[in-house]
Amino acid sequence: MHVLCNRLDRAFVAYQQEFEEKAVEVLRSGFYVLGKELQSFEQEFAQFLGARHCVGVGNGLSALNMAVYLLGIGKGDEVIVPANTYIASVLGVTLNGAVPVFVEPDAYYNIDADLIEEAITDKTKAILAVHLYGQAANMEKIMEIAGKYNLKVVEDCAQSHGAAFNGQQTGTFGDVGCFSFYPTKNLGAFGDGGALVTDDADLAEQARIFRNYGSKKKYHNEIMGVNSRLDELQAALLRVKLRHYSEFLEERRQLAAFYEANIKNPAFLLPKVREGAETVWHQYVVRVKSRDEVQQKLKSRNIDTMIHYPIPPYLAESMRYLNIPETRYPLAGQYAREVLSLPFYNGMTEEEQEYVVESINGF
Ligand SMILES: *Cc1c(COP(=O)(O)O)cnc(C)c1O
Repeated sequence: MHVLCNRLDRAFVAYQQEFEEKAVEVLRSGFYVLGKELQSFEQEFAQFLGARHCVGVGNGLSALNMAVYLLGIGKGDEVIVPANTYIASVLGVTLNGAVPVFVEPDAYYNIDADLIEEAITDKTKAILAVHLYGQAANMEKIMEIAGKYNLKVVEDCAQSHGAAFNGQQTGTFGDVGCFSFYPTKNLGAFGDGGALVTDDADLAEQARIFRNYGSKKKYHNEIMGVNSRLDELQAALLRVKLRHYSEFLEERRQLAAFYEANIKNPAFLLPKVREGAETVWHQYVVRVKSRDEVQQKLKSRNIDTMIHYPIPPYLAESMRYLNIPETRYPLAGQYAREVLSLPFYNGMTEEEQEYVVESINGF
């Protein structure tokens, strides 16, 4: 048996007829960009989250970049970011000329909210919360600190569609929530896609203008803008997926419960869920000391795994200008050496999961 780390075809096959019918409908409609499918998706996704406004854009990084820009954060401003995240979270900050200030992770792989205050300076303008691996960051504490210091809050929800904290959806706590619909994400499209959500009508309007060359009325360009739109085909297919999203999430819960109940090897540290948090299990990430060796052993049994992420963002080559010493964030460094993402995807069979569990327990 060959177990891949992720398989996108299985989620497609589960609702193949609906996806295909919708795709043909859009292809035949003659409308491909900024049409009614996008409008409907924006309404439905905002409603799903309990947010007032949703603006579809080209991808998740674009949403982050736009959020930081539209909140007026730029050159010389500092933004607090987690030291343990995907590089795109940080690029939304650096593309605007702002300076990322990293903070160590907690036991749930998200920013350690107890360490945020000591990272605040008089240049700090915002906190970027990332809900990594599908689990909400400690939003209660983060919002409390933001209120105390009058900081903006941007949420990177690229991995957390539908995740909640104290019953409230991620993406609805801060000023802006940024989503990605890249195919591997929980709510994944069949190409690139992204969205911003906000309760601020002005900000939503600005984002709508910004994503379309800075123009509200055709050929009247009020502000500098970009071309970053969620196209009709992706929006339409995302609507199909959103209709079935609670089923996808329930299946992910069951897959996670199976690993949790059956992995018995004490060398493997299984993921924990924060009190008050409802995770959507974007990845199933375990930690193990001899990670590279374990990954090789699994590979020799035809089990593919991944590492999210082997190089923390503050050590990326592109971030070298920040001059951050390698040992500056020891916990983030340790996570980068020990994390391992097990095969985990909608449509994973019991035989596949059993084979992974058996292999791990046999080491
Ligand atoms: C995927 C991802 C992004 C970027 O989204 P894209 O649509 O690929 O641009 C940003 N942040 C996190 C945490 C992600 O996982």
